[in-house]
Amino acid sequence: MSSSTFGLIRDINPKNDESWRNRVFLTFDIDWAHDTVIEDTLALLEQYDVPVTWFATHRTEVLDRIRSNVKFDVGIHPNFNPLLEGSSGGASSAASVLQSTIDIAPQATAVRSHSLVHSERLASLFISHNLRYCCNAFIPLGGSNRIAPWELWGELVMVPHCWQDNVALMMNMRVPTPPDANDQLIVVNFHPIHVFLNTEDLGRYERTRPIHQKPLELIRQRFKGYGTRNRLIELLEVSKAP
Ligand SMILES: [Zn+2]
Repeated sequence: MSSSTFGLIRDINPKNDESWRNRVFLTFDIDWAHDTVIEDTLALLEQYDVPVTWFATHRTEVLDRIRSNVKFDVGIHPNFNPLLEGSSGGASSAASVLQSTIDIAPQATAVRSHSLVHSERLASLFISHNLRYCCNAFIPLGGSNRIAPWELWGELVMVPHCWQDNVALMMNMRVPTPPDANDQLIVVNFHPIHVFLNTEDLGRYERTRPIHQKPLELIRQRFKGYGTRNRLIELLEVSKAP
């Protein structure tokens, strides 16, 4: 398997099938994880030397380490949920939520909302802030689905992902590898917390919430069987295959 099997979201061009077909795009939503938790995933990815698109939620020195790797790209992961839940805590509008996230990564061209929150207005807002790739669609691989990127108004490219670690646990989906692509686009979405915990069941994630920011305690809760960390490593091993 050639190393060009793996790519960055920003290299996807819907007008050029070769830019995405049968390729794997690794993405990670940081979701306010503790630095140690992010660094744990980062060390794994550095070891395999593969391109990765990160979606940043907050300021941290770890972002500098990520940015220093030419194979990595940093997108943004704005959280519009408080606006929907009426618990905005200072944020008064989608525009202000978006701007505060862009301030963390001003060069970002890719966006994925936390919880995949999306709307026609948000799409226009992304365009007006020079975001080019919107990763707010989840389309599971299989059935009659045909997974490819598509373009919206303002040249906004929609890049759907076909696998997500926490959703895979609810839907019992194994992580796709290039042979599963069948001429489709494969974008996978992991979270450092699930890699760190090696989550095999969302109950593990929920009951450890109080210690998610206490990595020394959290590491003791890492699942010892087959979980999300194993799934990631399985996929990363593909990059080494001849
Ligand atoms: Zn998220």
